Amino acid sequence: MDISSQEIEAIVRQVLSGMGASAPAGRPAAPAAGTAPRSGGDRGVFEHVDDAVQAAWEAQRDWAAHYSLEDRQRIVEAIRRCARSHVEEWSRKIVEETGMGRYEDKVEKHLATINKTPGPECLTTDAISGDTGLMLEEYAPFGVICSITPTTNPTETIINNTISMISGGNSVVFNVHPRAKMVSAECLQALNTAIVEAGGPENLITMTREPTMENVDRMAANPKVRLMAGTGGTGMVNALLRSGKKCIGAGAGNPPVIVDETADIQLAGQKIYEGASFDNNILCFAEKEVFAVGSACAGLIHQLEKQGACLLSPAQTEQLVKLVLQPNPKGGWEANKKWVGQNASKILAAIGVQVPDSCRLAVCQVPADHPFVLAEQMMPVLPVVCSASFEEAVDQAVAAEHGNRHTASIFSKDVDHMTRFARAVETTIYVKNSATKAGVGIGGEGHCTMTIAGPTGEGITCAKSFCRRRRCVLAEGGLRIV
Ligand code: NAD
Repeated sequence: MDISSQEIEAIVRQVLSGMGASAPAGRPAAPAAGTAPRSGGDRGVFEHVDDAVQAAWEAQRDWAAHYSLEDRQRIVEAIRRCARSHVEEWSRKIVEETGMGRYEDKVEKHLATINKTPGPECLTTDAISGDTGLMLEEYAPFGVICSITPTTNPTETIINNTISMISGGNSVVFNVHPRAKMVSAECLQALNTAIVEAGGPENLITMTREPTMENVDRMAANPKVRLMAGTGGTGMVNALLRSGKKCIGAGAGNPPVIVDETADIQLAGQKIYEGASFDNNILCFAEKEVFAVGSACAGLIHQLEKQGACLLSPAQTEQLVKLVLQPNPKGGWEANKKWVGQNASKILAAIGVQVPDSCRLAVCQVPADHPFVLAEQMMPVLPVVCSASFEEAVDQAVAAEHGNRHTASIFSKDVDHMTRFARAVETTIYVKNSATKAGVGIGGEGHCTMTIAGPTGEGITCAKSFCRRRRCVLAEGGLRIV
């Protein structure tokens, strides 16, 4: 049988459209709202942001209309299983792609995120029954959420926000950090595959292969995107807040630690070393500077050295400032990205100090207005300020936190001191006598998140944070039983 080339082309087009695959050439035109999942994506990864939004919009309609809470729970469990099976691979690939952090700590961060991010079970209903009837308040989805993810926790944030956002009945379009786009795409595709294999809709989470700022602007302008959630630095969060759309902003921190004279100094040394060196200090909630009061100062530095920290001389400290910091165009100092998240041994080698890789932290004694105290340097270099009194330490710590209201900690046995610092610093996370990572459930109680929304107030986010509150009222009548 003879078949013309036009007939072959027509058959191919028919088969492709039946499979939901992309048209062979050119960008397909946007389908009308409510039609079948659009073509063009590769397990959630799209070339064009409008297509990524459209596909996520269609998936969300389906998700909200046809899937029960039990379905959501089952699919979230499938996501956890899938992510668990990739923890080592993604941790290794993040180190390779971003060039930052420590493999073993990324494994721990992933496991905390996978195991301790709550699913739909946290969406509890409030009910009031009284003389005038019955009231129910429930958590409803926003719809499509745009989620911007950082380079410091790329796949951890995708896993965390996927569980939280889809548990709330939403779909998500991610704009990932360009420096982590390959591992982010692999993670998103694996999670999408797990969702579909567990019976969920295609494209419940999507992204563009090439993340850009223009994509974020397009999503802010797209009426199908109902919520913008940004996890990253201050500049990005401020840009989102100006977008005119409902935003959840999880911005920068510069967590101060106070160690007072009543503290268990050995515990303080151990926990501060552990926290400040975790993943080479790239976490927003990691200890960034310490204010040790009076006699606690020398003791703390000694304990940090006992843990393995390298104490720098004043001359070495100033050499390091010139190497790893640079003037911020808006004033003050900022980290030189080349050194962010590098091992202490590598940073110190660059100023001629040789230490083994087992030395995870450099420590320097500096005044309270030193650039290492004021800049969010995100590397394992910990400045220690010797404060004359507890009151002075509180003032210095509050100034160093810059009003981010992100994270702070204290080592003390004096309950008044614990309370006074908490009231002065007003942070979302406040940890007493442990590493600050305890505040996100890593070695502490409570659920985990990688999106700590201080600026907009949602705090330690979970499914509830990404939902709308809706109320339903029934007038006095047949339903009450008392
Ligand atoms: P970053 O601000 O450079 O990038 C974060 C994301 O925002 C990236 O996807 C980036 O492409 C995007 N972005 C940057 N500027 C933007 C703009 N003007 N408009 C739209 N998008 C923009 O931050 P990073 O280096 O990836 O991460 C480190 C920073 O993030 C630190 O300041 C850290 O404290 C903070 N952080 C905060 C949290 C939190 O939960 N609060 C979590 C992780 C990281």
